[in-house]
Amino acid sequence: MKKLLLPTSIVGSLPKPAWLAPPEKLWSPWKLEGDQLVEGKQDALRISLQEQLLAGVDIICDGEQTRQHFVTTFIEHLSGVDFENRKIVKIRDRYDASVPIVVDQVIRQKSVFVDDAKFLRKQTNKPIKWALPGPMTMVDTLYDDHYKSREKLAWEFAKALNEEARELQDAGVDIIQFDEPAFNVFFDEVNDWGMAVLEKAIEGLKCQTAVHICYGYGIQANNDWKKTLGSEWRQYEEIFPKIQKSNIDIVSLECHNSRVPYDLMELVRGKKVMVGAIDVATNTIETPEEVAATLRKALEFVDPENLYPSTNCGMAPLSRKVARGKLSALSAGAAIIRNELAI
Ligand SMILES: [Zn+2]
Repeated sequence: MKKLLLPTSIVGSLPKPAWLAPPEKLWSPWKLEGDQLVEGKQDALRISLQEQLLAGVDIICDGEQTRQHFVTTFIEHLSGVDFENRKIVKIRDRYDASVPIVVDQVIRQKSVFVDDAKFLRKQTNKPIKWALPGPMTMVDTLYDDHYKSREKLAWEFAKALNEEARELQDAGVDIIQFDEPAFNVFFDEVNDWGMAVLEKAIEGLKCQTAVHICYGYGIQANNDWKKTLGSEWRQYEEIFPKIQKSNIDIVSLECHNSRVPYDLMELVRGKKVMVGAIDVATNTIETPEEVAATLRKALEFVDPENLYPSTNCGMAPLSRKVARGKLSALSAGAAIIRNELAI
């Protein structure tokens, strides 16, 4: 069988059902507890899978139904982090958040998502992609009172992430993605040690690996920040040359409705590129033609076999109805381009 061109996938998250956690907000608290919570999360995972299948999405994610937040949930499973006493820090130099404190050596005591991945693996034969937070973004989402060095702490996180990633791979995950929105802010650190640390996180993996770098969820603080970035967003230009030389297979980037110049994709030519063709910062559902137009432009800089249509970022803060519409638009838009390429 010929390999499917333009396989679609979401970046990671989908909205949760209201009976599991109040929708349309981040760090939304669970409404269930104990065994009911475990079962509720699995039911939500089943629904998330079903919605992706119905929309015709090709690479399946868990929709992040079992985690409260894309970074915090992973950190909760590490020892050495105090969640009781918290500090306010500025995340990505942008907005204040109450975060846990690193008080001792961070060690992954047990697996975090491996049971969830095994559960999802049993439900579908389609390829599955699993998102983990990137080490630099983790460092940026807590207060360090132990290592007193962002780089040292990042290396410790990379070790924990690598252990988790190897187990996810063994559980049958096809693509492991690291979410590194911090890469779009701390360029010098990315080039000094951030990319090396990420290479540590993917060390020894035989499955495909991805890095997702975006301009954040469609929340007010991010939308305000984007207004300060000028008419062209050239952040990727600072870090793509380093990524180009790395062992990462796939680069996931924000594109649709953003001011990222398309030609920056040329800097990662040869890598697979998950092109964001769905804007997660608006409730307006893209038409298939709009999605297709974004993909068509991306094809000037990405070879067809390397183009992976996707969303700009996670859809956790959206309503379920809007997210469903956007999933379908993504598939329909990719289908238009597949037909064009087949001619
Ligand atoms: Zn993102």
